[in-house]
Amino acid sequence: MASVLVYHSISAPAEPMPSAIDVSPSNFATQLRWLSRWRRVVPLTETLSDRASGRQTAITFDDGFRDNLTVALPLLEKFQLPMTLFVTAGFLNQTGYLSSAELREVSRHPLITIGAHGLWHRHLNRMSLNDARFELKESRRLLEDLTNQAVDLLAWPFGECNEDLEELSAECGYRAAWSVWKGTNNQHSLWRVPLGRHDGLTRFIAKASGVYGASKARWHRHKDRRDVGREEAGRPALAS
Ligand SMILES: [Zn+2]
Repeated sequence: MASVLVYHSISAPAEPMPSAIDVSPSNFATQLRWLSRWRRVVPLTETLSDRASGRQTAITFDDGFRDNLTVALPLLEKFQLPMTLFVTAGFLNQTGYLSSAELREVSRHPLITIGAHGLWHRHLNRMSLNDARFELKESRRLLEDLTNQAVDLLAWPFGECNEDLEELSAECGYRAAWSVWKGTNNQHSLWRVPLGRHDGLTRFIAKASGVYGASKARWHRHKDRRDVGREEAGRPALAS
């Protein structure tokens, strides 16, 4: 099975970022070296093909942190590996995030594909479908205006989605969408493997080779079914 990796920030802050989403530049370099040797790193859209092989891995980044340009890109250039940046349109020009001019610049880079990640990074599964539709359409319009390119790939904010949102993604013209273990793992909720500060090389290898994904996905399916069961029985689901 092809694996799709999710990074956020390539940085080494003294304190972990929320959910420990930071990966240090030296760990990232080690991971890229391993990927370039043992996996076939492909542009994200190639993993959609029926012919996608189990050795394939795609690299994605969520949110649009500025260090994706200043720290991650030089390392990806060194190994000549492609990446997809899922940019939260409303975060552009805020401290720590890409500016509009930087987004325009990276969108022309041969190793980079730009995808959408909502307008304000909200919990789309907790809002009305009309509001969610606005997030999906408006973010796409802004990114397309800025980059002068078609933007038709989507990563769900917080990795969350459900069947209504999967339909909405198709309705809003997205070609495919990626979650993190949520939804049906179909065209508009494809599963990705999240990486962070605490992934040493051994765990990284398990994640990148699909072993971790298979067991973790099963665990999430079980947990979701259990939570739905609890809600139906009138008891609140456990927080995770
Ligand atoms: Zn995000």
